[in-house]
Amino acid sequence: MEALPTLWQLDTLGRAVNYLNNPANKPLRLQNFIENQFLDCAHTSEWIDSFDPRSGNLLVHVPRSPPNVVEYAINVASCAFRAWSQTPTQMRSVILFRIASIMEQKKEMFAIWESIDQGKSLVRARGEVESSIRHFRFFARYILQDESAVRLNKGRRESTLAHESRVPGGVYAIVTSWNMPLYLLSSNIAPCLAFGCTGVAKPSELTSMTAFLLSEVLRQARVPPGVINIIFGDGPGTGSTLITSPLIQGVSFTGGAKTGIQIRKDTAADLHKRLSLELRGSSPILVFGDVEVNEAVYSAAFAAFESSGQLCLSGSLIYVHRTIYKQFLFRLTQFFQKAYRMQKELGPVVSAEHYAKIRSQLVQADEEHANFEIGEIPNEVPEHGFWISPTVLSNVRPDSLLVREEIFGPVAVVCPFDSDEEVVKLCNDNPNIMGAVLLTDDLRRLRRVGEHLNAGLVWGPCWLGRELGAGFNDPRAIGMGREGGVHSRDVFTRLRAVHVPSF
Ligand code: NAD
Repeated sequence: MEALPTLWQLDTLGRAVNYLNNPANKPLRLQNFIENQFLDCAHTSEWIDSFDPRSGNLLVHVPRSPPNVVEYAINVASCAFRAWSQTPTQMRSVILFRIASIMEQKKEMFAIWESIDQGKSLVRARGEVESSIRHFRFFARYILQDESAVRLNKGRRESTLAHESRVPGGVYAIVTSWNMPLYLLSSNIAPCLAFGCTGVAKPSELTSMTAFLLSEVLRQARVPPGVINIIFGDGPGTGSTLITSPLIQGVSFTGGAKTGIQIRKDTAADLHKRLSLELRGSSPILVFGDVEVNEAVYSAAFAAFESSGQLCLSGSLIYVHRTIYKQFLFRLTQFFQKAYRMQKELGPVVSAEHYAKIRSQLVQADEEHANFEIGEIPNEVPEHGFWISPTVLSNVRPDSLLVREEIFGPVAVVCPFDSDEEVVKLCNDNPNIMGAVLLTDDLRRLRRVGEHLNAGLVWGPCWLGRELGAGFNDPRAIGMGREGGVHSRDVFTRLRAVHVPSF
């Protein structure tokens, strides 16, 4: 059965669930989207099985695109570059707005399939779809401002006029992770299109469904054929062929640090290839002694457990001032027991491999004599989906890998601290920290501590809200990624200055 027309109709939760529960319906096969065509399944000889995290059942077959398909997509993007890069910005802006409005009409469908495929709650998925749509609108507006500059170098006899402008950066590979599938893809495809680049995008093989649906939106929005192509496949095969192609001039990657290092190695010889690597990350929560404890518990729980802790900005490491440490830990545990129910507020983790990784970290916690305030080590073999119950650990050594490496699951580690200086040092010494959440009612402390933290994103008593023009980056440069407004522009454009002498 053709996957696209079937999925496109399954735009309410009831329809989607009925479809999946009907044993007569075989798992669908996704198709590569190249030059605005869905490639016939006959071109795919190898498939990757992708599973429903809630049930552990096979959900969909994802093409494992071989080198010839990857090269075809890159060639097509390369041929489309000349015309697209010369398309007036007003026209590009119209197309981006068109994409946003088609997504808007189908936003519930996107949220439903994001939730089913990734395991996140429908509420969370709806929020991410809204943000994905915002990316297209943001860049559609952004490019309407002319940022070129004219400079005059006046000599005694003659002067030189320089016109400095941004030119599209070329053909890009966009490779993204599974934790916010549509959001991460949109935050890259939108600026790629807006700044006149073309590209080939590859989502994670674990969560490819909303990328497949986005392909149809691009087709309906009449993005010129070849400008954005979406292909599917694994990392070491499809992803690696894509990023190492000599026709690819830039790579925008979001994912784990190990893969980032591999990509740097694989592309090291190609000095012209521009890399933007958004790698790993976490945002510890700092709870100071002056807070209203119940409010702080609520904020900390949200930051630690939203999307089952699988956000690059998750606040799963919680530092609490010693004066309120015991009270906070007690209330946090109580709150989880009451407010965080599996299947409701909490979803599963994305895959059996990720389940095994988190489980091994919990085994390590047990071996290191951490206290399990709530939660336990899950069964070695997951049954009926990849479920890990919410876990709160205390008595964890400051140098433990549980603190220094990301867990990326529904596990919070709570540690005490004694002074502002100490907690700043703990955070700044931790190589894995990208942002931070400061829970305090003292504005002076908020500013002082915020400015001393070596973190790219610092939130006052809030979390996750983001202004799309503000930079999203990692000051310790774990990766080399920068996103948001002008920073995305720098990734997808190059500077050119044309000099004209006086005549
Ligand atoms: P991953 O690095 O395993 O995979 C990311 C993507 O890279 C996937 O599409 C994968 O198929 C592809 N890939 C894997 N090996 C490749 C290779 N050799 N060449 C080219 N492509 C390759 O990461 P993941 O497990 O999908 O995602 C989880 C990680 O992503 C976590 O570490 C999380 O913190 C991080 N993340 C970071 C940010 C950020 O902005 N800093 C945002 C979201 C997720």
